Amino acid sequence: MKPPERLKKATILGLGKSGYAAARYLSSRGVSVILSEYGQIQGEYIALADELKQMGVEVESGGHSDRALEQADLIITSPGIAPDTAVIKKAYALGKDVISDIELACTEGVIPIIAITGTNGKSTTTSLVSHIFQSNGLIAPACGNIGSPVLDYLPNNGCATNGAAGGEPNYLIMEVSSYQLFYTKHFAPYISVWLNLTPDHLEWHKSMDAYIAAKENIFAHQDQFDTKKLKDAKALKDAYAVINIDDPIVASRKIKAKPFPFSQQTTLEGKEPAAFVLDNWLCYRLNGKVERVCSIDQLPIIGQHNIENTLAAIAVSVICGLSVNQIGNAIKKFKALEHRLEYVDTIDGVALYNDSKATNPESSIKALQAFKEKIVLIAGGRDKGTALQEFSKVVRNQAAAVILLGEAKERFAKALNEADVANVYMVNSMEEAINLGLKLKLGPLVLSPACASYDMFKNFEDRGNVFKDIIHAKRAQVGQPS
Ligand code: ADP
Repeated sequence: MKPPERLKKATILGLGKSGYAAARYLSSRGVSVILSEYGQIQGEYIALADELKQMGVEVESGGHSDRALEQADLIITSPGIAPDTAVIKKAYALGKDVISDIELACTEGVIPIIAITGTNGKSTTTSLVSHIFQSNGLIAPACGNIGSPVLDYLPNNGCATNGAAGGEPNYLIMEVSSYQLFYTKHFAPYISVWLNLTPDHLEWHKSMDAYIAAKENIFAHQDQFDTKKLKDAKALKDAYAVINIDDPIVASRKIKAKPFPFSQQTTLEGKEPAAFVLDNWLCYRLNGKVERVCSIDQLPIIGQHNIENTLAAIAVSVICGLSVNQIGNAIKKFKALEHRLEYVDTIDGVALYNDSKATNPESSIKALQAFKEKIVLIAGGRDKGTALQEFSKVVRNQAAAVILLGEAKERFAKALNEADVANVYMVNSMEEAINLGLKLKLGPLVLSPACASYDMFKNFEDRGNVFKDIIHAKRAQVGQPS
């Protein structure tokens, strides 16, 4: 792939957030850009398309023209467009390079990139690393698949609302998805983090092997990590791979950078992880000395899975030279992301948590297991037809009651009854669910639906916000706690 300064013509597929940012970025560097959108341009994107046109970008919609593909030296695709789509097949048939925006940002090489992937925990870990860094005076925005597209944070990117508003970043903390990684060829971050891998997105990747191969791109080219264009090039020599050695698939990947293994054990099959748990403390080992960062009880984000995410964030922070106190103090002040086991309030002695992001049974299992005491679970929504045996087993052990709503409630009730789960209730609205949970008073009331939200809500954010709005209204009725 040609570096952007040598590119003449680029075509961008898809007018989404990242497509818009890529068009602005390349156009402001003098590249002749066609932005090609398959559908009709609607809503907020009409104004964005007009803005691009004013910059000289050619915008086409309602299909991808042959000319858009043929004329391009480089094609940058929205990560949502799968490789078996006609337009991608055609681009490959024409021998074109097809990349995603993360590859472009990495090729620019002007700000060190910390890339974080995994089936679960990406957003939490990315936000936590960004929080630790920013709490210690660094400019390190969370970007990529979360927040703004990465190109918004590179210098001179043509965007009014770019990262330069907060100053030029010291690091880019980038959440990367398997779709974005699929469309990379030379992606070589300074630090690559791979948290875990379980089957997901198979409708896009078509097979588990293809899903793993896409994720592997996070480690595959780190031997080409290039410091030439970095301002502080001397400070960074080697690239690092942060690997979860508790995950057999991640642990067996080939790496081409300095390894920084982490584990929830102290030792694992004779291996000594560099970040680990010892006597209930999250620790790391540096130059032979063990440092204790914080105890599990001090973690503001609950659940076993968040120990994994925090160990990964500690690993990154240690590599970047932060001290044990800097890391520990920041972690203790981190707030859970919205809709992920987010504490909302305590009303009449009942603590309420919003875990609306849990859209499959595996995620709800993590929520159930995060509490020491039994909880009252609010579940249900649009049914994904997922297997419910394991979920029902965990519910039986961890839930004092289950309140079901949405299209999936009958099937969930049947599965829970078959697993001898007691206290299963069905309701018709979120308000009813909350009222019942508050009346039952059998433990913390946790919305962790194990289902999609589209039957009753716009998306999982809307569902979580409705849950929180009802609770805030109740708080207003009962007044502030004394
Ligand atoms: P992602 O960005 O990868 O979707 P999030 O950080 O948004 O991940 O977390 C989404 C949900 O995934 C959480 O609510 C939790 O149920 C589950 N989860 C988070 N971290 C992990 C992890 N390390 N391992 C397994 N599940 C996790």
